[in-house]
Amino acid sequence: MDCPRCKNTLIILELDEIETDYCTECGGIWFDKGELELIADNEKAVKELLSYFSKDADIKEKSISCPICKKKMDKVYVDKNKKIIIDECPEGHGLWFDKGEILELIEANEIKVKNNIISILTGIYRDKIYTKSPEEQ
Ligand SMILES: [Zn+2]
Ligand SMILES: [Zn+2]
Repeated sequence: MDCPRCKNTLIILELDEIETDYCTECGGIWFDKGELELIADNEKAVKELLSYFSKDADIKEKSISCPICKKKMDKVYVDKNKKIIIDECPEGHGLWFDKGEILELIEANEIKVKNNIISILTGIYRDKIYTKSPEEQ
């Protein structure tokens, strides 16, 4: 499967027991349908995770194609404040998060996520988002 952003071949990235597809080039990550729910720690967290998803046809961001069916994906807000925009296949194949967006979503909505998944994600995206300078610590 190719990256919908940069066409690089996606590699399998195991997040705990979830097999996601990850782009080593641009840092994007693909969740097949139903996989995103598996990052949440419990039923309540799953509900919270999905509760802020809202499709918006007016978002002007450049559209990209689903890596499975190649259809133009929909733009979806995924956080309380409508700042984080991800791409969702209109046929329901899955969700695409650009670099770091998955962590931004978890942080913004304060979702309870399985600990080992958080450590894998921060391991990948640490440089961009989570690295604090010594003065801040
Ligand atoms: Zn890419
Ligand atoms: Zn699709």
